[in-house]
This record gives sequence, C-alpha cells and structure tokens, in this order.
Amino acid sequence: MAAKQILVVEDEKPIRDMIGFGLRRAGFEVREAADARLARAELANRRPDLVLVDWMLPDLSGLEFTRQVKRDPNLRDLPIIMLTARAEEADKVAGLEGGADDYVTKPFSPRELVARINAVLRRVDPQVEGEVMSFEGLSLDTVAHRVLADGRPVSLGPTEYRMLEFFMSHPDRVYSREQLLDRIWGGNVYVEERTIDVHIRRLRKALEEFGYDRMVQTVRGAGYRFSTHVE
Ligand code: CA
Repeated sequence: MAAKQILVVEDEKPIRDMIGFGLRRAGFEVREAADARLARAELANRRPDLVLVDWMLPDLSGLEFTRQVKRDPNLRDLPIIMLTARAEEADKVAGLEGGADDYVTKPFSPRELVARINAVLRRVDPQVEGEVMSFEGLSLDTVAHRVLADGRPVSLGPTEYRMLEFFMSHPDRVYSREQLLDRIWGGNVYVEERTIDVHIRRLRKALEEFGYDRMVQTVRGAGYRFSTHVE
C-alpha cells in the first residue's frame, strides 16, 4: 500500500519539524505548510490523506481553516485533526463542531499522534493497515482484531472491542458518555447513554481476570478514561 500522505499545517518550525520527523519515521509521507494560505495552495495542488492543523496560525485560526475546508464540496470528507495547546473542553467542542475529526492536545507524544492519525484513517478507510497498540501487558491488534492480556487471548464482544480500541488510541483522557456514544457508535445512531455503562461493565469483566479492568476508570461526574498508569 502506498504511504499515506499527511499535510502538517503549523507555523512554528521546530514543532513542524518534530511532527514531520515522527510521522516519517512511522511510514507516512509528510508535506508541510506554515500557514492557512499555503495549506490551501497545497490542498489545491494535491489532496493529502489527512490534515493536521494547529489551532493557532498567523493568518487564520485552525478552526476557521477547518470550517473552510469542510465547506468545500471537494474537500468535505478530508480528515482533519486539530492540534492545540488549549485543553479547555469548550475549545475541544468548538473544534469538533467546526468539522475536525479529532483533536490532539499539546504536548503529545509522537506515538500518541500516530495512534490518533491511524484511528482516524481507519474510520475513513478500513483498508488502512492496522497496528498493534499496547499498554502494560494489554495489547490490541487492529488487523487481527485480537486482544491479548499478558499473551493470553481476551474474549470481547464487537462493541467492547470497538470501545477498547477507541480507549487505547485515546489513552489517559476523559470522555463523557455522550462523547463515547458519538465516537464509538457514530452520531447517527440513537443509543441511550446508560448503554455505555453496560458495555463498560462487560469490558471490565472481560479484563478482570487479567487485572487490567483497573485501566478502565470511572471519572466521577465526567465519564470514563482509559488509564495507562495503573499502580
Ligand atoms: Ca501555531
């Protein structure tokens, strides 16, 4: 399969270089733009597979850039991940409502960024090569659709599998029930929020005998988090 092409839109060169380095090492082809205007020129020139856009750009905010791209009938389905130093929930919501497919908060590790890019690309194109994500002794193979705990297979239903895949590609972040519904079931499906709790319980039960149920944490009044740091 040809390397997937990522357009990185970020005005700060050291950050752009750092991202470019991490992505190239992960096998992506990388193109770069220092502002929104140059990014539009890049898009007109050749369509990438995904765009990473920084929230703070000199000429246009990343949010406005995302809105423009999503209004363009030719580019509407181009996946966009926003990068930002702003961790406020309101910004995150604005970013996603502006049409971004995902949202990564600085500082992030190259591994996390690659995992998020792959997750978005897989949603758009299930043919995208998968990968193995692992934390502690728990690993999930997105090609084989297999979960192993300390080398032993974990039996999961399809929803619990999708849930765990989402959690493992978005580690150490809190998601509300509503966000989980939106991201795991998709926005068009009507599912009651309490359904999430049922699947969380099943997921924990499946992980319990290996001791990894503790990674699936309830955050009181907020939602759930997959924690990679379990004592
Ligand atoms: Ca910037």
